[in-house]
Amino acid sequence: MDFKQIISHCKEYGFIFQSSEIYDGLSAAYDYGPNGVELKNNIKAYWWKSMVQMHQNIVGLDSAILMHPKTWKASGHVDAFNDPLVDNKDSKKRYRADVLIEDYMAKIEGKINKDVEKAKKKFDNFDEKMFRETNGRVKERQDKIDAIAKRLGKAMTDGNMEDLKAQIEEYEIACPDSGSKNWTDVRQFNLMFSTQLGNVAGSEGKIYLRPETAQGIFVNFLNVQKSTRKKLPFGIAQIGKAFRNEIVARQFIFRMREFEQMEMQFFIEPGTEMKWFEYWKNTRLNWHKAIGTPDNKLRFHDHDNLAHYANAATDIEFEFPFGFKELEGIHSRTDFDLKSHQELSGKKLQYFDPVKNENYVPYVLETSIGVDRMFLSQLSNALQVETVPDADGNESTRTVLKLHPSIAPVKCAILPLVKNKEELTKAAKDVFDKLKFSFNCQYDEKDAIGRRYRRQDAIGTPFCITIDFETLEDNTVTIRDRDSLQQERISIEDLKSKVFEKTDMSSLF
Ligand code: ATP
Repeated sequence: MDFKQIISHCKEYGFIFQSSEIYDGLSAAYDYGPNGVELKNNIKAYWWKSMVQMHQNIVGLDSAILMHPKTWKASGHVDAFNDPLVDNKDSKKRYRADVLIEDYMAKIEGKINKDVEKAKKKFDNFDEKMFRETNGRVKERQDKIDAIAKRLGKAMTDGNMEDLKAQIEEYEIACPDSGSKNWTDVRQFNLMFSTQLGNVAGSEGKIYLRPETAQGIFVNFLNVQKSTRKKLPFGIAQIGKAFRNEIVARQFIFRMREFEQMEMQFFIEPGTEMKWFEYWKNTRLNWHKAIGTPDNKLRFHDHDNLAHYANAATDIEFEFPFGFKELEGIHSRTDFDLKSHQELSGKKLQYFDPVKNENYVPYVLETSIGVDRMFLSQLSNALQVETVPDADGNESTRTVLKLHPSIAPVKCAILPLVKNKEELTKAAKDVFDKLKFSFNCQYDEKDAIGRRYRRQDAIGTPFCITIDFETLEDNTVTIRDRDSLQQERISIEDLKSKVFEKTDMSSLF
């Protein structure tokens, strides 16, 4: 399904709405509707269970969004959490300079892909790798992309705004909106949202909405370690909102100004970080695969240009409808954060190692994933249109959301065959009452049964349970499986274990 269809499906079926829609919306902010909040909560539960419940040495935390402003000085966010901003003087549109250059590279890449596709059609035993290495025009373009990527990476690491401007001019990049090449200088734009404390006037009272949840973990490192008496290696996991004043906020819930993160900081002995880096890379990739994300839609992207706090970093990228993009980051953060907080606060943030009999600042391995990006990955992967036989055996199409049953918003729908027969609706409501403590169920009596099935398919409900006249005689119902479309007659007594078997999350671990 294309991206537009996914977005409209999200609205039509109560997954996601534009924030403040009646006022024409607030850009890059979204609200999760009745089905959206269920799916989102299930994703969070899957992450939390896999981190906190499954690991004896990982504990949870829920720290405040508002933190002392010095936190963000120590973490480097006040000075370095910037994006390069450039305005087009004619269209008055604002862009990220690095994104303009990346889009320019993507255009060249597009030309290469066209050449490859053409050649593919022309030759029988086509060897793409060889073609890319030997075709003059393709090679020239690839060299150009590589050179631009290198120069862009350097300008970004050095914070060289003049060179970014020079590149935009050299490559003759035009405003995508107006075609104008009349650009302002490139300047740094800090992505943190600031606000004011109620009881302090002026700049003294300036505080920030957290741009990441990680710092709440770092400043609580000793509180958690001492109160739980954990020994290294151990981790602290947290799920919570983060805020970034993104310059280019597009692609739906992929890049928002208010979003949610699931972060885990794993505290380790210095020198062991590469071992743990590999461990968490594998563990996190397997977590994605276990929920049903196909191998070919996931890949690692190792960072060449490392952030100021990292000595190794990789992204787990997912193939979104607009290409492979970052879904999760895995970073070896060294002792940068704990040391900075120690220096600025004057409070020791050290661990006493009873084996070595010495104090040291631990190193940190971080895994950080956006809840919303995970939501988009699951939804875009699961949403399908397929041809199925209808009740009369003719072919018809259905839209089905093939989410893993354990994260589906509704686990089973309870449907009386017809609505105006009181014995049936009563029996159906009894079944609903029996199951509602164990599962999120939905009772639906409106429209023909086929249409009700289709509605449940579209929100990914794994089971539809139909109550008919036979039910009144022998306490059996039909249970329809979303994926196989098989209908089975089973006793009401067996329903709970049947639904549980397929929707229980523990099968994922
Ligand atoms: P990007 O390069 O896409 O801006 P990032 O490298 O700045 O992302 P991190 O700082 O590593 O992202 O944040 C960790 C995770 O938080 C990301 O992998 C992503 O899933 C999520 N995330 C970051 N920014 C946003 C955003 N604006 N909207 C939604 N999710 C986000």
